[in-house]
Amino acid sequence: MVTARVHDYGLELTQNSKVGWAFSLSRSESCVNATEICKRLCYGNGVRYQSAAQRHKRLRNYRTSEFLLRKGGPKLLAQNLVALVDQARPVDWLAAQISGEATNLPYTLRIHDVGDYFSCDYARAWLIAIRQRPQCKFWFYTRSFLEPKLLSVLSEHASESNCQGFLSIDNDNFEQGLLAFSSYPGVWKLALMQPEEEKLPVNLLPAVRDVVSPGEIINFPYHRAGKHVQPLKVEPLTNCPQITTTAYPLQTNRSEPKPCQSCSLCLPG
Ligand code: SF4
Repeated sequence: MVTARVHDYGLELTQNSKVGWAFSLSRSESCVNATEICKRLCYGNGVRYQSAAQRHKRLRNYRTSEFLLRKGGPKLLAQNLVALVDQARPVDWLAAQISGEATNLPYTLRIHDVGDYFSCDYARAWLIAIRQRPQCKFWFYTRSFLEPKLLSVLSEHASESNCQGFLSIDNDNFEQGLLAFSSYPGVWKLALMQPEEEKLPVNLLPAVRDVVSPGEIINFPYHRAGKHVQPLKVEPLTNCPQITTTAYPLQTNRSEPKPCQSCSLCLPG
């Protein structure tokens, strides 16, 4: 069990070989609407996410977020999140601003590589940060759509031109996810966690087809350690090419774009 030391506070980003810069929280505290299937299949269970240092960092991020919200509400947490977002700037950011040219690498941040939005105030803090950094492209996947007030704040995130939000659906929550999707037309996209075809509920794909158009849903066949289940090849699903093709290999070199930055299907704009 990982515990945070008293006065051990701080917010930290992680660098991930698929998405690039990301912010993570401990799952047990923040994944308020985790489903049974996502707890079982979450890639946060993978070896590289389970080192004591990684788990400690996520717990410290969570505890610090809670601490800042208690002391100064969403505005104080947002000040600290903005400072983090600035750390994700590409190294040639300043030169690019002066010369008017584009940076070599895109300026992106995935909110919650691991973890999820756990309260309205926490979500409001990110909304302030997203609005204060329009040049950064944000994206996130969430299962925190069961509570209407939290969904409403998150829909504001997903409505910002520099932020793309995905409602993460699976066998256990797809009906609520599709309802949330339909309640905010044109705001959300969907991310499907796909198990083996025979384990998919028979009514899932028909329900998706009723309300979702091509381009609005990315399919993530369950994968671990380079292996994945057979991807569904049906409309309106688009399979994540990083999982199902060799076009976007994981990238550990910090001066090269990461797969999601190159693919950009999930990024805003
Ligand atoms: S679809 Fe593209 S951007 Fe989205 S997770 Fe897969 S590789 Fe990344």
